[in-house]
Amino acid sequence: MSGSAHATLNLAAVARNLARVRGFAPAAKVMAVIKADAYGHGLVRIARSLPDADAFAVARLDEGLALRQAGIAQRIAVLQGFANARELVAHAQHGLEPIIHAPRQIDLLEQTPLPAPLAVWAKLDSGMHRLGLLPEEFDACMARLHACPAVSKPIPVMTHLANADMLQDPLTERQLAVFGQALDGLRPERGIGNSAGLMAWTGTRVEWVRPGIMLYGVSPFPYRTGPDDGLEPVMTFRTRLIAIKQLRAGDAVGYGGDWICPHPTRLGVAAVGYGDGYPRHAQPGTPVLVRGQRVPLIGRVSMDMITLDLTDCPAAQVEDEVILWGEDLPVEEVARHAATIPYDLLCGITPRVQRIEI
Ligand code: PLP
Repeated sequence: MSGSAHATLNLAAVARNLARVRGFAPAAKVMAVIKADAYGHGLVRIARSLPDADAFAVARLDEGLALRQAGIAQRIAVLQGFANARELVAHAQHGLEPIIHAPRQIDLLEQTPLPAPLAVWAKLDSGMHRLGLLPEEFDACMARLHACPAVSKPIPVMTHLANADMLQDPLTERQLAVFGQALDGLRPERGIGNSAGLMAWTGTRVEWVRPGIMLYGVSPFPYRTGPDDGLEPVMTFRTRLIAIKQLRAGDAVGYGGDWICPHPTRLGVAAVGYGDGYPRHAQPGTPVLVRGQRVPLIGRVSMDMITLDLTDCPAAQVEDEVILWGEDLPVEEVARHAATIPYDLLCGITPRVQRIEI
């Protein structure tokens, strides 16, 4: 077991979180979103821990190729699809399923001879205004796709929700309505729900759901945690104390000296920093766990170290384990203290942090 910053990954929890997804949407097939190195958990490792996923989604061609090279045989959708003929051909060669989100991609499909039949997903922009065919171009694009001999039929259609985590926001119902209208008469397989969608909006539980964050045991909702919804955090980010010293009231701690000890302070130094992906903008008061007890971060986060106030944790000793998030300390809470979202923290763990499967 590594002494300094490392992340333990509870892979059995991934499969249990998938079961929880199926509990929300029992009739749906699950496309597990494992882009960005499976949100920092390890692309191939997480794919292997989900043998029952009906398909995977990655963002980019390279991620799909890495899965195929590792021998992953399930369906793989590539959310950003292809931008040129070379990338298009690579999808066909490796049995990857690109998302068609722009008419320009259909031009490429019409012009490029393919080595094998190609399964694609069409994507409608139902109101998020990022990737996706606009409703006014959708019918013509679908007709062109249906006319492409190399494209497998039927063609499933997906859309993505912008605000599904905002339970009072009217956009989700509007997006569902736009999606329904665009599909009128087509009856394709549909895919809508990200984690927040499938958990909170019953209208998204259609033929496919597309969860990411909940597979890692983390809540997509502000002010909730994964365990609140029966999910088990997969990653626990850990390090250890490497120094302890006694400071006087008035002593300044760390870069900028902007933390002034308000009282005599037992200072702990832990071996983790923004060079490991611990958020540099974590504010004083961000909790970490030492001997199971919450103690606050003080001072600025440095590249390789953080400083802690151990005054109320007199038993703490050098080499004690420090939990930064995960078991008993929700990453959602740490993210709030750093004015960001848990997705950002999970994806941000850097390569020098050893991942240890448990
Ligand atoms: N679908 C698309 C198109 C996405 O970009 C993402 C993630 O960003 C997801 C699904 C999964 O979202 P979540 O991790 O919130 O479940």
